[in-house]
This record gives sequence, C-alpha cells and structure tokens, in this order.
Amino acid sequence: MCGVIGIFGHPEASKLAYLGLHALQHRGQESAGIVSSDGQQLRWVREMGHVGEIFTEDRLGQLPGSSAIGHVRYSTTGDSVLKNAQPLAVNYSHGSIAVAHNGNLVDAAEVRARLEAEGSIFQSTNDSEIILHLLARSREGDLPSRIADALRSVHGAYSLAFLTETSMIAVRDPLGIRPLSLGRHKKNGWVVASETCAFELIEAEYIRDIEPGEMLVVDDKGARSLRPFMPEEPRRCVFEWIYFARPDSTIAGQSVYSARENMGRRLAVEHPVEADIVIPVPDSGTAAAIGYARESGIPFDQGLIRSHYIGRTFIEPSESIRHFGVKLKLSPVRDVLAGKRVVVVDDSIVRGTTSGKIIGMIRSAGAKEVHLRISSPPTIGPCHYGIDTPDRNKLIASSHSVDEVRRFVGADTLGYLSLEGLHNAVSKVLTKHEHRGLCDACFSNKYPIPLPAPVRAHQLRLISV
Ligand code: AMP
Repeated sequence: MCGVIGIFGHPEASKLAYLGLHALQHRGQESAGIVSSDGQQLRWVREMGHVGEIFTEDRLGQLPGSSAIGHVRYSTTGDSVLKNAQPLAVNYSHGSIAVAHNGNLVDAAEVRARLEAEGSIFQSTNDSEIILHLLARSREGDLPSRIADALRSVHGAYSLAFLTETSMIAVRDPLGIRPLSLGRHKKNGWVVASETCAFELIEAEYIRDIEPGEMLVVDDKGARSLRPFMPEEPRRCVFEWIYFARPDSTIAGQSVYSARENMGRRLAVEHPVEADIVIPVPDSGTAAAIGYARESGIPFDQGLIRSHYIGRTFIEPSESIRHFGVKLKLSPVRDVLAGKRVVVVDDSIVRGTTSGKIIGMIRSAGAKEVHLRISSPPTIGPCHYGIDTPDRNKLIASSHSVDEVRRFVGADTLGYLSLEGLHNAVSKVLTKHEHRGLCDACFSNKYPIPLPAPVRAHQLRLISV
C-alpha cells in the first residue's frame, strides 16, 4: 500500500512530484519523500506524515533538477519509522541511485538473511532495500541489466521507480500485481505514477500502463522499453478496482469507477431486496451503491456523511485510532434514515468491526431495516503482495459463515458479490484489453506467487527487531 511517482525532463520536477504525491496520498499516509536529480547529484527529503505537512516551499527548494521520484508509504513490510520512509537513496560503486517501491517481496526475509550472512549491512527493515543491495552486487554491465538481475533473484509484487543522476527507470513485476502508468507532460517530460489520477492533477497526458514485466528506461536519449523477464500470465490485483485505487483512476486503461458501478449492478441482481433507499458507506461504497440503485430502481440517497478531515480508518496504524475512527469519520443523517428500509453498500468486510458500528449508527438514526450489501466476495485470505490486510484469523469471513457474519454486524440481511460476479464486473471494463488475468487471492485463497510458511514466520520476527 504505497504510491509511486516519477518525473523526467521537466524543469520543476520535484514540484510536479509533490503535486502528484498529493493525488496518491490515499495509497499511504505514514511517510512521504522525494528524491531529485540536477544531472550531477541526488538530493532527498523524507519525513513521517502527510505530503502537505512535509513539503514546504523551502524543502521543495532543496530539491532542484529536471528529474525526481516520489513515494507515499503505508508499511506492509518493515516498521512505520523514518528510516523506512522512501524513496531510499544510496551511493555505490556506479554512482547514486534511489528507488520508490509499491508492492511487497514475499521472500524478503530469506534474501535479506542470505545477504546479511554474506556481510551486507542494512539500514532499514524495508524489503525495498534488498533490491538496492542486489543491484549493487550485480556483475552485469549496465544499470537496466543490473536492475533486472536483482529483480530476477526476488519474488513478489513490485512497481518501482529508480532515479540516478541521469536516468529514470520504471519496472513492473511480471504479474503486474500493483498498477503503474505512463504519461507525458506537455510533450517534453515523462511521468510514471501508481495511478492515473496523478496525471490529471499535474496535467500530464496518460499514454498507457507500464506493462506487466516491462522495464522503461528514460534518459536524455528518450524512452525505451525492455522485457527483461520471462513472460507470465498477468495477475493484476482485483482489490485495486474494488477499494484501493481512486475511482477517477484507470487501471489497464479502464475506469475504476465503472468497474465499481458494475459491481453494484451485479450485486443488485445477485442479492435483491425490497427497500426504500440505497445508501453508500462513503467514499469506498459510493460507486457500487449508485450501481445497485440504478439496477434495482431503489432511490439512491446519502444517509451517512463522511468527514474529510480524517484519513481512511483502516490505514491509520494504531488499533485505538482505528476503532475510534469510525465515529470520527462517519455520521448518520436522521432525516434520510428514520423509518426507512435501508440498503447500505460497502466495498468489503475485513474484520467486521466497521460494518457493525455503521449498522448500529443507521439503526440509532431510526432505520426500520438495514440490509448490508458488499461489492466483493467474503475476504478469506490476507494479501502478501502489498495490501495491508490482517492475518487470516482476524478476517471474520475466514472462519464464519455469511449468516454468522450477518449476526455479528447486526444486519437484517447480508449479501456479498460472488467471485464470478466480481470477475464479470471487472472484466466487463477490461474486455477491450488483451490481458484479463486478475489476482483474487484474498477471496479465493489462490495465491499466484507462493509464500513458504517458514519464511513468513521469519519475516515477522525480523520486523519486530
Ligand atoms: P473492518 O472493520 O475490518 O471490516 O473494515 C472494513 C472497512 O475497511 C471497509 O469499509 C473497507 O472500505 C475498508 N477496507 C477494507 N480493506 C482495507 C484495506 N486493506 N485497507 C484499508 N481499508 C480497508
């Protein structure tokens, strides 16, 4: 759960990176950073906190040059501390290099232990630092080959932006699990970003996605595309379409908003109910609720109002804030809800605590019936590829039936979108695209990159050091 941006060939690169990071802030709120290059040297600013708090005029002034990469972080491997903030930047035998990473390496602990046994000294508990160590040790001749060499010795999800004094390199893992898109700024600068919503903000034109398994090298000779990995069937993360990406983004050139609306429409077909209004849990359930309302003919209304001054409840790292956060974030509109049979649509149930509180809120505002509709299947498996989900034993649907979950959250009825319905809803917007493979491991337990159990245990020990 991180956001990455890279700018090459624009006189105000760090300022564009800063704006782009604002658009990607939903992908990570723990820390942010920018590394810039003026063609001679790399300079960086990295801090804990939100983009708007970290980057003052002064700090951006310390980041001159026509290329920059930036990162917003929410940790899936490594502690939430400054030393783990990205982009990471190092000097090594071939000069300076910085990297910004979205994703998660599944064999990070194993590879790190091997490197440490051979004498490597790590400065962070971040899995991304492993990539820098590997490329610094590579015997390959040029940088793209060294990066490819390093990435061939790890497994997992990675959408990466590298910056050196004179080049920017963007890479996406062969399965293309996390998104990464390519744009142009006013015909002379290249931009890569985790999501296309960043292009809107900086007025860059979306060109295409960096393809799964592609490496794009940008330097003063222009941009060239390399294919350094064995081709594999892509497995784009379906949860990006369900929840994580911003609805105004496109992934694989297709609209996240439309995918969500389709999910809502299918949900209405799979789980109809007689009701007076359809309301979303804003903002994550809004597009699906619109789809449900359109398909069912039940009027859409706003029964819950979201405060925009508190972040995503789940993304806040501390348990206490998360539980308190539901009330801070949402409050019921009594006039809309009182005496009504309400369909409430959200994107997912993870632990089940949020839905329970929301339903309590809707009932206390006088709703007669509350029917919960979820625009994804039951979440039964944790994500090991870069979305922060709790361990399996905390996922309510991994050990409870739909009816048990319904009772736990206090709904009159509960309907989840089927896995087939989800695939149909997403592939409806993907049909024009040649690759249709999706990773749905959190709903199907089918993990496209296997995770050896002992490695996972080791990883947890490392993190707690
Ligand atoms: P829970 O109380 O754990 O069931 O939380 C469910 C809520 O968290 C839903 O409203 C989702 O929109 C949101 N959510 C689901 N998965 C994630 C995630 N990985 N990160 C942040 N929020 C999430």
